[in-house]
Parts: sequence; structure tokens; C-alpha cells
Amino acid sequence: MRDTEIERLLRREDEHYLNVIDLIAASNAPVADVRDNRDWGVAQFRSAEGHVGRKPYAGTGNFDAIERLTALRARTLFGAEHANVQPVSGSLANLAAYRALMRPGDTLLSMSMASGGHLSHGHRKHLVTDLFRVVHYDVDTESGLLRYDEIREIAERERPKVLVAGYSAYPRAVDFALFAKIAQEVGARLVADISHIAGLVAAGLHDNPCDQPGTVVTTSVEKTLRGTRGGIVLCSEELRPAVDSAVFPGLQSSVGLAGLISLAETLYDAATPEFRAYQQRVVGNARALAGHLLDGGLDLVSGGTDTHLLVIDLTRTGLSGQEAERRLQDLGILSNRNLLPGDPRPPFQASGLRLGTPTVTSRGFDADDIRELAGIVLEAVLAERWDSAPAALRARTTALRDKPRADDALADLAPLAAAAPAVADAR
Ligand SMILES: *Cc1c(COP(=O)(O)O)cnc(C)c1O
Repeated sequence: MRDTEIERLLRREDEHYLNVIDLIAASNAPVADVRDNRDWGVAQFRSAEGHVGRKPYAGTGNFDAIERLTALRARTLFGAEHANVQPVSGSLANLAAYRALMRPGDTLLSMSMASGGHLSHGHRKHLVTDLFRVVHYDVDTESGLLRYDEIREIAERERPKVLVAGYSAYPRAVDFALFAKIAQEVGARLVADISHIAGLVAAGLHDNPCDQPGTVVTTSVEKTLRGTRGGIVLCSEELRPAVDSAVFPGLQSSVGLAGLISLAETLYDAATPEFRAYQQRVVGNARALAGHLLDGGLDLVSGGTDTHLLVIDLTRTGLSGQEAERRLQDLGILSNRNLLPGDPRPPFQASGLRLGTPTVTSRGFDADDIRELAGIVLEAVLAERWDSAPAALRARTTALRDKPRADDALADLAPLAAAAPAVADAR
């Protein structure tokens, strides 16, 4: 069988993706062992449902052994008593956590999307909003920072069952100990969603919410943790039955073995000293990028970053996030428009632009590369006119992209990159 139709589309995506500079904060480029499923034999298609040791199918002993090892690695990496490694995504890990801790109609207190929260924290069209009474807190519009006193006041007033901390576009460190204290004071449980910062937490660069007793920690796998798609819920032994049954049979049935193997290898990778050094470079690159952009005259939400991401406040430039995103895409640089706290523009346009360094760092970008990258971003965002990408700026971007880098995690895919257009979708 030769399915040329899908093959052609797949090669097109390879050519596209391997020819762009990806600054999307939620992306990453996993090492080859995590990606390569050619050696995975029957795992490429095997799936089964149920918990370890209790699968209602014959012949799942080896499957259980793989799942047990994967969960052990997750527990060890994050220092949790229990890990459920079955959620197929971070969003479903969150749904399972909520379901384990709440009944329909209970109150969930989380950050709004405009301030940096996630869809699965209670966007008005998300299932979560149908199931629970969602109340939001926001960051301070001026400083862009969390206001813990105000969050405490809202929690005292609204008496949530679950308080959510951990975000998609918050560039600063989160005080999980303080969040846990607020949750305890109002009789709520803390759900700490570390989807974006899981790699930084695993590397010991950010506070680990697993250290806070009674907290349920959720994460996706494909962001800074540098895996392929997946989700994890971490909790205490006490919460294990509620969390496990919320995942199965509460939310999902079968789990694919390939996803578990990839996750096991992701967690193996994340426990190495090289991974820790990588995360330090990710944060160093984000800080450097933030510094250059500030020096060049741009505003950043919260004035900088402690993480792998930053959000440019485009208000003074007059550009929308959508327009800034388009300019960078014209050059072959991927980013995404992002709402600002109190943003006057609708979400589709937005007034912010979110940039992240996980992927470029995985692809070997060093301090010089980040300086050049910042220079290109500044020229594009501050240009008075933009009909199409200026040739000189395009040439600089291509030179930066094509600079040989020994430690490019995607180097093995280079043959697929062949000369091809840098931009996927024409407008
Ligand atoms: C990305 C993200 C998720 C969801 O992860 P998916 O794997 O895309 O479902 C959940 N929470 C936060 C804060 C995120 O940024």
C-alpha cells in the first residue's frame, strides 16, 4: 500500500516545519528517542483500558509493566506519591482532577484567559463551564502580576471547591506555597496546572507544587517537558482512588501503548543532567530575548520573564497581535497573538504577542542567535509599513535558521527539510 495523498501532505509539513523558526511557547522539539516509534513493535497499535493490575482484558501483563514503570518515573521526577499517566492530553488531566475533587455545580476559581489562563480552566464554551460554577481572578492590569491578596478575598467570598493555579501565558514564577495556603484557608483543594512549566519544575528551576500537601498537580507533556502529546495527574496516595476513577472509567477508556512508551522515554530524558542544563538554557534564552526586546523599545507584560515565555505588549506600537504574528510568519518565524490583561481588542486580534524559547533552545540557539533573533523581531514589529517581508530581513532570518548547530534535536530530520517555502499557508 502506498498512500501518496497523505504522504505528500506529510512531506509538505516536514518541509514547512523544518524551515521555520518556532517561537510558539507551547511547542518543543523532543530528542530522537522520544519521537522515534519505528522500534516500538506492537506498541505502535496496542491499546487497552483499565488501571495497572486491573485491566479487564486478558494478556495485558507487559502493558501493565510498561505503565507501572512510566508512572514510577513520573512520581520520582516530581516527587509525588501517585501518578496517573493515562490522560491523553493536559486538558483531560485537568478534567480528571476537577472530577476527582468536585461534584457538578461546585465552584471552580481560576484565572481568566485574558490574564493568561487556559481554556480548560473554564472558558465560557468549555465543558468545564457547563459542569461547574466558574469564577475568575485576573492579574493586575498595570504590573501584569498575580495579586495574591485579591485572590484570597475572592476565594473567601466565593468559597470554591477547587482553586486553579498555573497558566498558559504568565511569564513569572508562581508562588504555589501561597496558593496552597489560600486554598487551605477557604477549604478548597489546589489544582496546580504546570503544563507550561513542567520542564522547569522537573529541573528544579521553579517551585514544585507536588511539595504542597493535598495539591493535585496536572501537566501536559509536549511543552517544556519535551515529550509528545500526553497528560499526567500527580497526587497523594489519599487522592489516588478519586483521581484514578475520574480518569477511568470517569473520562477515558483505552490508552495507547505508544503514548506510554513515548512518555516513559520523555521522563527518562527529563531525569538527566543534560535536561536540567537544557532548561537553564531555555530560561537564559528567554531572559536574554526579553532584555533585547526591552532595549529595542518594546513593552513586555510584567516587564520581563522568569520562565520560557514572554508576552510583548503591542499597545504603544498600534499593531494588533494578529498583525505582528503575520509579519513574523512572513519571515518564517512562528509565534502567536495573545490577549493582554484588560485587552480592548477581541481574542482573534488581541494586543499581545507570545514568544517562547523551548524549541529554538532544543534546536541549539545560543546567546548570539538570540540577539540576532531579537533584532529581527524588533525590525519586523517596529517597521512603519509592511506589505511583504523586506528581502534583507528575510535573508537575515534564513541565515539564522540555516546556521549549522551541532546540538539541534531535529538534526536527524534534516534530509526532509530540503529547499522549500518557509511559509505554510498563503493568505
Ligand atoms: C496547554 C495547556 C493545557 C492543555 O494541554 P493539552 O495537552 O493541549 O490539552 C492545560 N493547561 C495549561 C495551562 C496549558 O497551557
